[in-house]
Amino acid sequence: MKGASAAFALAMSTRLSPSVRCGARLRARIIIALALAALATACATPQTQQPGVAELLERQVRVLSSDDYGGRAPGTVDEEQTLDHLQKSWEAIGLLSGTHDPVSPWRASFTIYPVGKAPVVTHNLIGRIAGTQPHEGAVLVLAHWDHLGRDTPACRPHLFDTVCNGAIDNATGLAMITQIARILAEGPPMARDVYVLATSGEEAGLLGATAFAADPPVPLGKFVAAFNIDSEGLTPTGTVAVMIGDDAGPLAELVRATAAANGVHLADATKANRLYRHRQDGWALERAGLPTVMVSASFADEERLARWMAGSYHRADDEADAVELGGAVRMVALHVALVKAAADPEVYPFEYTSGTQTVPAP
Ligand SMILES: [Zn+2]
Repeated sequence: MKGASAAFALAMSTRLSPSVRCGARLRARIIIALALAALATACATPQTQQPGVAELLERQVRVLSSDDYGGRAPGTVDEEQTLDHLQKSWEAIGLLSGTHDPVSPWRASFTIYPVGKAPVVTHNLIGRIAGTQPHEGAVLVLAHWDHLGRDTPACRPHLFDTVCNGAIDNATGLAMITQIARILAEGPPMARDVYVLATSGEEAGLLGATAFAADPPVPLGKFVAAFNIDSEGLTPTGTVAVMIGDDAGPLAELVRATAAANGVHLADATKANRLYRHRQDGWALERAGLPTVMVSASFADEERLARWMAGSYHRADDEADAVELGGAVRMVALHVALVKAAADPEVYPFEYTSGTQTVPAP
């Protein structure tokens, strides 16, 4: 979080400086006309700085991982609050509802059946950027919104803290897909539709991604590529990432070419695939036949990842102050390039498969 905090402080001081300057000079009663005119101009048109990606990521991570959101457990008031926040931010950047059900825009419900407990109705949030040639297919970018809640058996307390805030896991991913979608929506139109998905039930076993694959907004075979983002926010800015998922086939080729063109080196993924491929939402989509990868800076840094897994992973101190956004900013830029490339049939021609191909179990 250091780099992003410093950038935030700098932006704030830049924004505040014109009015501070104005006040000081007016109090001194300097009545030189030209100086006053220049001052008036400066006061009337203070420099407006657009917040950068790092600042926007930080703001949203802080909101979604605050104690007010209670650890984002499915089926609670915290789910309602989380989805309201995400939906509002997606509407503000121009996304459309991505569900196929006009009665339930944005939210696709499904039920979780916890062992020995009452069923829990929960929701995936689905947005869409309309493409100019939707018959050419669709691209999916996703991150899970759910986490472990508060005072639950799955949430390990830390000192007196019993709220599992899930900042790295996965408020960062949610902020990232929002920024990726914003940049894409502000850019030139893309040919294919782009769907933006925040899944529920990931922590309970990739259930939201599984529900999406079972009842997709368009036939699953329409999706030519999917990019999952999970637990980013461990690494400072750098040039190394890892691709978790199928190493062969056209999507892997596209990722390798796009990473190289964006100055990102893809590290050997053998170990990351063995340990984590089946523990992230991308696996549920791969299982259903959808070409899916998780391209990640966090999972490329074995040392930091191991330290986090042994420490605040699924513990109440997975909080915003520990998030390092340098790597996440870099991964936002890479994913913008990846989705753009995958949404362009000229760059990424893709033969539809049935959407039912199988991949071997880990
Ligand atoms: Zn988790």
